[in-house]
Amino acid sequence: MCDHAVGEGAKLVDVSKMERRDLLRGLATGSLLLIAGCATNPVTGREQFIIIDESQLQQASLQAWAQMRQQVPQWRNASAQRRLETVGNRIVQAAGRGGQNWEFVLFDSPQKNAFVLPGGQVGFYRGLYEISDRDDYIATVLGHEVGHVTGRHAAERYSREAATQTALQAAGSQINSQLAIAALGLGAQVGLSLPFSREQEAEADIIGLQYMQRAGYDPRLSIPFWQRMQEGGGARQPEFLSTHPDPDNRIARLRNYINQQGWGPV
Ligand SMILES: [Zn+2]
Repeated sequence: MCDHAVGEGAKLVDVSKMERRDLLRGLATGSLLLIAGCATNPVTGREQFIIIDESQLQQASLQAWAQMRQQVPQWRNASAQRRLETVGNRIVQAAGRGGQNWEFVLFDSPQKNAFVLPGGQVGFYRGLYEISDRDDYIATVLGHEVGHVTGRHAAERYSREAATQTALQAAGSQINSQLAIAALGLGAQVGLSLPFSREQEAEADIIGLQYMQRAGYDPRLSIPFWQRMQEGGGARQPEFLSTHPDPDNRIARLRNYINQQGWGPV
């Protein structure tokens, strides 16, 4: 479903053809009440509402990435780095995205977590690496992360947030143009720091399985991997666990998909 911000007297505008300045002005004055930004995702076939363009996301990713790398020390481990890149390269090839720039960086933190920016920067924490004793486990994580990128999840999340702000503004009781501007502002960090939705997490899992399989890894091993993550417990994991209040669900969905594909007993 592709939803819109709708208000009274709304006019349909193709924001992709608008100058950014006009777009901001339209949002700020409330004259732009309905935003049309429907796109069909080539990977998932799902209709998505997206009103940010690729170059803005790339720019924001570079900024966020530079900041991240200043704040968190890198884990200098040449063999781990080689292994991460080897699996990463196979996954991005399988995703048909080998021609794009990707970066895979190990961060020195005990967190069992990983993250991705829409520009293709992947952060992988030492704590997660240490429980990933099989390449298939690393492939599970990277398939999922690359799935967020090809699924255009950050752009979608960001667009929804911006539209919500606009809708609130259009409702009119408390017109706060700053809100709309902030939501669409240069600080596209807003979009990068928003958590993915449960639907997006589920989608990234399935896309990830497809990439694993195409890359020659065993997608069935995603199940023991996620079980191990679950057992690990400990701190809340913002990317992996917080949007999954019921981890058993995730495993059931994966098992279901693997069975449907006929990839062998799980
Ligand atoms: Zn995720």
